[in-house]
Amino acid sequence: MTLSVRVVGVGDAFTARYYNACLLVETADTRLLIDAPPALARALADLGDRGGPSLGLDDIDHVLITHLHGDHMGGLEQLLFWRRFVTGRRSTLHAIPEVLAGLWDARLRGGMEVLMDADGARHPLTLDDYADVRPMPAAGEAFALGGLTLEWRPTVHHIPTSALRVRAGGATFGYSADTAFDPSLIAWLSAADLVLHETNYGTHTPLERLVGLDASLRERMKLIHYSDLHDVAASPIACAREGDRYEL
Ligand SMILES: [Zn+2]
Repeated sequence: MTLSVRVVGVGDAFTARYYNACLLVETADTRLLIDAPPALARALADLGDRGGPSLGLDDIDHVLITHLHGDHMGGLEQLLFWRRFVTGRRSTLHAIPEVLAGLWDARLRGGMEVLMDADGARHPLTLDDYADVRPMPAAGEAFALGGLTLEWRPTVHHIPTSALRVRAGGATFGYSADTAFDPSLIAWLSAADLVLHETNYGTHTPLERLVGLDASLRERMKLIHYSDLHDVAASPIACAREGDRYEL
């Protein structure tokens, strides 16, 4: 295996049909979860019904959070609590510094900053008590994550968000994360063998802008983060489906 991308969830923030957008990127010795949506444990377990081995929270040693919207990080508390209470195995948590800055203070702290032991004594905790926190370096600066090499760049979104390029061997996978249509981001992603690009309403990327791209890129592109109303069977660009596994 050079580089494998497994689709855990494809849905947007409002989906009633899918899991929220979430991916597993794997090479021989490294497995990276990209985003941790709500119902994460169930989404990982359901991979077993979709042609791949079922996974659990204990299989996720590395997790990368692209941004702080709940549909992308709402399962992180579940993952970190499980690993602390049940198996005692810390995950490594990767994100850009702007995301890490808000992750604890603005999203997790209220539910996780105090733990009570069996005697009723309360203990204060920080994010470092739950995970090995690894800030990603500057945009465009490649860094190693196990057997993977990653780069990120900012997207056009409400809050700081990182698009990703992931390499292993000679293969490259590109992920738009959440973004408005951005030709410079498209150009940056277009070097990849496989591009997963979001599409949705409002300030997200309109499908028609992606349909207007060169055929050579569209053929390497799969849609993700699409609406429940998107017609997957008739989609002008192929949709990622939950359980899909792409071997690059
Ligand atoms: Zn978002």
